[in-house]
Amino acid sequence: MSSFNGDIQQACAEHIFGTYARFPVAFVKGQGCRLWDDKGKEYLDFLSGIAVCALGHCHPEVTRAIEEAAGKLIHVSNLFYTYPQVELAAELTRLSFADKLFFCNSGAEANEAAIKLARKFSNDRFGPGRFHIISMKNSFHGRTMATLSATGQTKVQKGFEPLVEGFVYVDFNSVAAVEAAITDKTCAVLVEPVQGEGGLNFASPGYFKALKALCRQRNLLLIFDEIQTGLGRTGSLFAYEQESVTPDIITLAKALANGLPMGAMAASEEVAKAFVPGSHATTFGGGPLIASAALATLRVISKPGFLEKVRETGAYFVSRLEEMKNRYPFVKQVRGRGLMVGLELEVPGAKFVTKCMEKGAIINCTHDTVLRFVPPLIAGRPEVDTMIAILEEVFKEEAL
Ligand SMILES: *Cc1c(COP(=O)(O)O)cnc(C)c1O
Repeated sequence: MSSFNGDIQQACAEHIFGTYARFPVAFVKGQGCRLWDDKGKEYLDFLSGIAVCALGHCHPEVTRAIEEAAGKLIHVSNLFYTYPQVELAAELTRLSFADKLFFCNSGAEANEAAIKLARKFSNDRFGPGRFHIISMKNSFHGRTMATLSATGQTKVQKGFEPLVEGFVYVDFNSVAAVEAAITDKTCAVLVEPVQGEGGLNFASPGYFKALKALCRQRNLLLIFDEIQTGLGRTGSLFAYEQESVTPDIITLAKALANGLPMGAMAASEEVAKAFVPGSHATTFGGGPLIASAALATLRVISKPGFLEKVRETGAYFVSRLEEMKNRYPFVKQVRGRGLMVGLELEVPGAKFVTKCMEKGAIINCTHDTVLRFVPPLIAGRPEVDTMIAILEEVFKEEAL
């Protein structure tokens, strides 16, 4: 425990920007799918950051990698080579469509890099003026100026105008809407394979294939924001694999280093060539400590059988929720793939989140009415059963 022993909520309000509406809980320890607060109360974590701690809290192999790296080399400039960074890039290219990686420190930064790369690629190939990017309504791409401008939700933009120029928003899951929005200024389409913050929205089968064909035909780059869906969350290492399409650029972050801050942009060789020395840079990106943590994380996720179990546990979880749906009229729909699962309600979800927390389970609510479950990927049937039992209690109270 820290030497600080005042009232943490009061001290936080006094000293930290009020950018987060926090729950009245302070966590001090985590292990696997469990968290403990400062009063010693134990929680089942079905949020894992927000889809960040994919291997659960303090996974022994990741912790060992961090400890070893911390004792050896934490940082040198990207003016030099470091082994973990190059090893991680080699591993990610082996496991994906991509040929080249750029490492940064967050999801927003990964999307910034992708936006810059798309503009630069188009500029080099087709000349200036072709810089518009089509993104989706209800999307989420980050909080920096370019990424909040790319985000198709006015609530993240309000008060920060003028926005970065050149973003056009269309309905998710409509190829016709994208086609209608293309002009001679368009250079790329940016889309999440599953909308996470937008309420766990899945596209219809064939949507991404048709979108890819349209992009090919009109010389547009297809950028997948896999910051939330990537690295096993939906039951395959990358969500694009299940859509039978190859994007031109993908962005990663959340689960990449199992809780340490790391983002990445990956692209095909042809597209990556648009970045040359001086095009883009970041001081901390891909440093040896963080890259070592990411390598350890990736090695566990890509072990034979790991993703099979994610799919199996996810299917079991969805089937248990479907069964509950039939008994509670305020449950509207269950949506899930792998361990990215949403339960849409007919009513606001906030009070259910609070009640679950009181009973010892951490979840959250996105888009007002969608309960989001993104547990550590190491969760199995016993954890699902505990989550269902708590949800059952909460729903029973609501139904009274
Ligand atoms: C979380 C998230 C981001 C932003 O990541 P940060 O690390 O918070 O900047 C961008 N896109 C998607 C799909 C996300 O889920």
